[in-house]
Amino acid sequence: MTCKRWIAETLFESLGVRTSFAVERVLYETQTDHQHLVLFEHKHFGKVLMLDGATQVTTRDEFIYHEMMTHVPLFAHGQARQVLVVGGGDCGIAKEVLKHPTVERVTQVEIDASVLAFAKEHFPEMAGPVFADQRFRSVIDDGMRYAAETDQEFDAIIVDSTDPQGPGAVLFTPAFHAACKRCLRPGGVLVSQNGVPFFQPDELLASIGSFRRLFADAGCYVAAIPTYVGGHMAMGWATDDSNLRHVPRETIAARHQAAGAFPTRYWTPEVHQSAFALPRFIADIVDRAR
Ligand code: SAM
Repeated sequence: MTCKRWIAETLFESLGVRTSFAVERVLYETQTDHQHLVLFEHKHFGKVLMLDGATQVTTRDEFIYHEMMTHVPLFAHGQARQVLVVGGGDCGIAKEVLKHPTVERVTQVEIDASVLAFAKEHFPEMAGPVFADQRFRSVIDDGMRYAAETDQEFDAIIVDSTDPQGPGAVLFTPAFHAACKRCLRPGGVLVSQNGVPFFQPDELLASIGSFRRLFADAGCYVAAIPTYVGGHMAMGWATDDSNLRHVPRETIAARHQAAGAFPTRYWTPEVHQSAFALPRFIADIVDRAR
C-alpha cells in the first residue's frame, strides 16, 4: 500500500501549530521568481493552492473569503465603479467584483505572473469568467509600487495578499496603506486580508494602528474560513466615510436586489451587518491599536 504524502501548512510552526493535508495527487509544484507554489488535490477541500507553506485558496471554501472580502465593501459603498485588487492572482476576488453591475473596471495588480498563468490553467472556474470580462484589467507589478505611482483613482481597494512574509510583507506596512489612501477616491473604502487574530494578533494591531493614523474610520470585520486555521479571519476596514459600516440592512438588501440578486453561499445582508460585531478579544485588539 503506497503511503500518502502529507503537505503541511507551516505558517504557524513558530507557535507549535502545524496543519497537514493528505494529498490525493499533486497537480503542480514549482519555485516561482517570488515563492514556492504547490497545487494538490484533497478529498475534502478539492484543489488546494499553497504559497510558501501557507494555504491560499481551496475550491471547497473559497466562496466564504471571496464573498466577504468583496460584497461587504462594495454593497456598503453602493456606487463603486473603479475597483483595485492588490494580489488576488487566483482571480477569486475579481470574479466576485465583476458580479456588481456598478463596476466599470476592476484592475488586478499581482506581482507573480506565474500565479496568474497557473490560475487560468488550474482554476478556470475563477479565472475563466474574469478574463472573458471586458471590465477586467490585469497588471503584473508590486502592489506597493503600483499604489504609490498610479494616476488612477479607485472607489474600493481590496488587498488579497499573502501573509506578511516574502513579497507580501510590504503590503502590511504604513507606507503601503498611505499609498492606497493616495489613490482612493473621497468616500472610498480599503479592505485587506489581515490574518487570524487568535494566532496573528500583532498583524491586526499594526494594520489598524496604521489605518487609524490615515483614515477617519478604521477597524475590521470577521468571517471563519475552514482552511485559514485559527478561527475568525480579520478583514481590515479603512475609510473616511464613517457611515459606510452602518448602512442599514434594508439598504444593503435593496442594493443586492438592484445588482440582480446574484446568488451567494455565505454573504447575506444579515451576515454583512453582523460581521462587524466583533468578539471581545478581537475588539480589544482593535481598541488598543494606535
Ligand atoms: N486569499 C489568500 C490569503 O488570504 O492568504 C491570498 C490569495 S492570493 C493568491 C495572494 C496573492 O498575493 C499571490 O498570488 C501573491 O503572488 C500576491 N502578492 C504577494 N505580494 C504581492 C505584492 N507585493 N504585490 C502584488 N501581489 C502580491
